[in-house]
Order: sequence, then structure tokens, then C-alpha cells
Amino acid sequence: MYELYIEDKNPKVSFQFFKNVFYKHFNLRRKPPIKDTCNKCDMYSAQLNNSQDENQQLVLKEQHDTHFENAKLARDQLNKDFKEAKKNPLIETLCYDMQKVLGLPKLPTNIVYYKRQLSIFNEGVHSGSTNTPYCFLWKEGMAGRGAQEVGSCVKKFIDVHLNKGVNELILWSDSCGGRNSNIKIVLMLKAVLMQHPTLNKIYFKYLESGHSFLPNDTDFGQIERALKNQVRIYTLHDFRSVIGNCKKHNKFIINLMEPDDFYSTENLENQILNRKMTINKEKVNWLKTKIIKLEKSKPDSIFFCESHSSEDNNFKELNIAKSVRSKKNSLNPQKLKVLYPRGKPISKKKWDDIKTLLKFLPKDTIEF
Ligand SMILES: [Zn+2]
Repeated sequence: MYELYIEDKNPKVSFQFFKNVFYKHFNLRRKPPIKDTCNKCDMYSAQLNNSQDENQQLVLKEQHDTHFENAKLARDQLNKDFKEAKKNPLIETLCYDMQKVLGLPKLPTNIVYYKRQLSIFNEGVHSGSTNTPYCFLWKEGMAGRGAQEVGSCVKKFIDVHLNKGVNELILWSDSCGGRNSNIKIVLMLKAVLMQHPTLNKIYFKYLESGHSFLPNDTDFGQIERALKNQVRIYTLHDFRSVIGNCKKHNKFIINLMEPDDFYSTENLENQILNRKMTINKEKVNWLKTKIIKLEKSKPDSIFFCESHSSEDNNFKELNIAKSVRSKKNSLNPQKLKVLYPRGKPISKKKWDDIKTLLKFLPKDTIEF
């Protein structure tokens, strides 16, 4: 702006003077551009700008408004669920999300930019009842980063950290179809529910994609700011101590995942039939689903709802039993087996790259 001002042949002033006037006398501020804008919002504004047809513009505007309303409904409901968890000891609300992958080793040496690195995964879980952030960490080679891994972290949270006596668990996440709303994570949590001493209901609730700002994002922001100040990070334990020290109050509770913490849902999937139609012959649309409900008293059913608005909270029931007439429960929760008992091999190319980085590492980190 200063350069444009000078170019415009205005009275000559110093940059400092210009800056002072700008900040003191104009009610203007600049912010860095938002990195992740919403795909849908961007699409609607681009189409609206391109469209000449008034009717089409109206339709686009209406669709965009609905998208905004849905985002707001979800956000309001998330806040309600958080408040509820704070005051009601029988309810817990959790938000879960995966942090951007960290590549190790982190080195100032520029060769690192051209090499594949070992990925470190962090599944963040934020508890609504205590407002505490939890981390579940593991390295590539132990497991991947799919729905079963995410589900296993949530399972571990329930096994180790869930407050005693909770009977209703509400799980919020973004609506990333692949990881969060597929049959694998639902079945894993169904198995957890069937065996849990107090839990009666589990809800999966999904934020509107593109507007899914979760408390986890604030948690990750704190970790990433601390990471920026670290020039060198070699091992998972180094990363762990960065996370452990990045907050003064309400510190992260860190869990290191072990190979036998990761469960496969393959056996469970084989025990059920993932039908396309509900018991009332309505089509099941996983991508449109906003809430999935599991009830302990209904082990053969999954309930779907396509709205966060409490007025039309009607759930469609899906029966997943192989034989609908059978009296026996189809799901045997004891059948969860370990996902990768001997680890999940990393690619040869990556392994070769990592080996070329060993010469930059201190001796005591090479074993890792
Ligand atoms: Zn949007």
C-alpha cells in the first residue's frame, strides 16, 4: 500500500510515518489469509460470480444459506454437548481429529526436503467434561492412519480415561467420510459398547465439512507453534516432550500407542451384513448422515439421522444382523483381533531415504 501511495505522487512521507497514520487514523486491519477455506463456500461464490441467470443465482444463494445454517446448527449442538458433559457426570463429550503428519527427523539440513521421512501420527482427543486435551501417538511402521487406527485411539481413551459411571458418550468429528463415518469405526465402538460396564449409548456426530473447527484445532495449533521453535527433532520421545511442555496449564495427557492397542474390525465385519436399506426400506446415506447412534439394548441396529436440528431428530434404523430372524446377537465383541501384530511395513523407497539421513543424527537416536 505504501508503494502504491508513493507511485501515486502523493506528498512524500517515510514508511514509518505512513504506518503510524494508517494504524492510528484508519479503522483498518490486515490479517494473514485464511489457509483452509471451505470448498463448498468457494464453489458457491465462484458459481454465483459466473452466473448471469437470476433464477440460478437464487438457487445457488439458497443452497449456500442452507450449507451455512447446517454448519451453525452443528456448531451450536457441539457447544451444547460440551456444556452438558461439564455439568452431567453421566455424559461425556469428546472431539477427535488427526493432526497434520510430522516427518522425522526434523533437521535444518536442506537435504531433508528431498527425502521421504518417517511419519509420526497424533490422534487428538479433547474431553468436554474436563476440557483436557489428550494425545495418542504412534509412528509409521506400527500402524497406518485409517478408520481402525482412529477407532483404536478412541477405544483406548474409553478403556483408560473415561470417567467412571458415564452412560452416554458423544463423539464429535469432522465429516471426513473415509476415516470418521465408516462402518469400521462404528463396529469397533459397537464392540466397546457391548462390553462396557456402564455405557448405554454412543453417538457419532459430524460437523459440516469445511466449517469443522474443533477444540482439537486449538490443541494442534499449540503443538505446532512449539514445533516451530524446535530446530531438531529425532525421535517419537522428542516429539512427546515437545507436546508435554508446550502448555503451562491444562497440559496434554500423552498416550503412546503400542502395536496391540490397534484393533482390526475384519472379524466384526464378517459377522454382520452392511445393508443399504433401513428396516423401513429407506436408503442409508453415510455421507449425508449427521448423527449415528448406537444403543446397548439394540446390538443388531445402527441408527442414522441426517439433521442436527432437534425438531427433526428422527432416526432411521438399520439392521446389520446376517439373518434378521435369528434370535442370537450377530456381533461377538470378543472377536476383535490385533490389526498389525508385526507392524505395517514402510515402503522400500522410504526406508532407503531414511537410511541416507542417518549420517546427520546423533548416535543415541539411530536405534529409533
Ligand atoms: Zn462452507
